[in-house]
Amino acid sequence: MFGVKPLKPERAELVGRYAVQIHWSDRHSTGIYSFDYLRQICPCPECAARHQDAAGRSGDVRIT
Ligand SMILES: [Zn+2]
Repeated sequence: MFGVKPLKPERAELVGRYAVQIHWSDRHSTGIYSFDYLRQICPCPECAARHQDAAGRSGDVRIT
């Protein structure tokens, strides 16, 4: 996901209210990540619980 070299995020800037732009240590790669996306990939217990919650509900609740 982060390419072949080990990269680390050096700086992050808010993009509007919905996303954050991350400047990576190679100074070439930048990426804009929506908070929704970050929530999806976040491994912390709080977010993991949300994922399970959403998955456990029947009907039209979906993680997009
Ligand atoms: Zn989280």
